Amino acid sequence: MQYDVIVIGSGMVGTSIAWHLQKNNSKVLVLDKKAPGEETSYGNAGLIQREAVYPKAFPRQMSEILKVLPNTRTDIRYRWSALFNYQSALYQYWTNSTPNKLTKIEDEWATLIEHCTSEHDVMIQASGADDLVRKGGWFEIYRTQEKFDYAIKLAERAASKGVQYKLLTPEELKAYEPNVNFDEFIGGIHWQNSWQVKNPSRLVKTYAKSFEAMQGEIKQANVKTIEQNDEGIWQVTVENNSGEMTTYTSNHVVIAAGPWSTELTRPLGYDFPLFPMRGYHQHFKVDEANRIGHSLFDAEKGYLMGPMDQGIRITTGAEMTTLNAPKNFGQLEAVLKIAKNVLPLEEAVESEAWCGSRPCMSDMKPVIGPAARHPNLWFAFGHAHQGFTLGPATGRLVQEMINDKPLYVDATPFSAQRFGN
Ligand SMILES: Cc1cc2nc3c(=O)[nH]c(=O)nc-3n(C[C@H](O)[C@H](O)[C@H](O)COP(=O)(O)OP(=O)(O)OC[C@H]3O[C@@H](n4cnc5c(N)ncnc54)[C@H](O)[C@@H]3O)c2cc1C
Repeated sequence: MQYDVIVIGSGMVGTSIAWHLQKNNSKVLVLDKKAPGEETSYGNAGLIQREAVYPKAFPRQMSEILKVLPNTRTDIRYRWSALFNYQSALYQYWTNSTPNKLTKIEDEWATLIEHCTSEHDVMIQASGADDLVRKGGWFEIYRTQEKFDYAIKLAERAASKGVQYKLLTPEELKAYEPNVNFDEFIGGIHWQNSWQVKNPSRLVKTYAKSFEAMQGEIKQANVKTIEQNDEGIWQVTVENNSGEMTTYTSNHVVIAAGPWSTELTRPLGYDFPLFPMRGYHQHFKVDEANRIGHSLFDAEKGYLMGPMDQGIRITTGAEMTTLNAPKNFGQLEAVLKIAKNVLPLEEAVESEAWCGSRPCMSDMKPVIGPAARHPNLWFAFGHAHQGFTLGPATGRLVQEMINDKPLYVDATPFSAQRFGN
């Protein structure tokens, strides 16, 4: 059997691409070493972030950088191995964080973000996933006036890009979330047209089921090699759990392997400044004393607490480390000390916290588009902090590209060729 398209990766991004292609009459095979939505798309905070019109830049002021250096912050930590390994990508990220460059990046990035909820909605309706999504927004809460004022300025600017928000006093926050202790907070922002998913992995799996219901195929196997023969046919060789090797053929291949993507692109001659930004999560059992209805982001401490199927999920900010580095729970432990003053968190659900890596590009934008030197090879990765948000919007774009249709978003800013590839 020769497929029209093989999609490698069944996270939110790969699954959404496969769904759109299958819906548009391609015969699609998805290959992943795990079941759909079991890696980064499993452990995230589950926000579909219509408010995320600003990609996360590095701090530029010396005072801010000096605060990061002692490596004791709750929002960002680093390991020297990562600074060494990804020095070039990190340096580019830092240079791309200058105000001039950032303005352009933000404008380009917003062209994708503005479609995030409407594109998810298409897939939510088609796959019957309504029960997984809360559409009442989420709260970003502040401890100091200076930081709150700055956030309000950004929110005002974001409103011109279609973001809906409302400022809330601690009393108003308390009315929404009576179990939360807002004593140390001076106010918050209600991001009203963003959504929250109560089980991110299950949403990916529901999209994947919808894909299979359209006769799409998913196989669990580790992709070992990707080759194109003289006739232009792709041959993707995989190893399954029993060590058996199989080769599948297709007209097109899409690499959507999240933070692992460069492991697959490099043998084909394409390297990218992609680096992982790790985050941890831990669930806590829910009872009457800690039940919450909205996700809350403690903005100045950099962690989020969200109501999930599994319990209250506490997700950490960023740890710059290498992809396979052993877990280090220091940041999570520091976060939990603070979070427990905000919400009673008595009993952890798992014995060990989860960790996963946001796939980050040096210019804060994903790579979405064709490879320069191989016809019918496509890339879709590097969505960083918002890959869960942007999967469906990316899926639609890749489908339109492969089928040579007019594109609903200008894809030039996301081209692989911007890195000289
Ligand atoms: C703590 C944390 C919180 C976050 N919160 C949010 C949030 O609230 N909202 C948001 O939008 N984003 C959030 N993100 C980011 C988001 O989770 C990621 O951007 C997104 O999941 C990336 O999706 P993906 O499909 O590109 O990658 P993944 O979900 O990682 O999928 C890649 C897949 O490729 C497969 N793969 C890799 N190599 C191979 C191979 N050789 N053979 C076969 N399969 C392979 C993997 O098994 C994996 O399933 C968060 C991330 C973290 C870590």
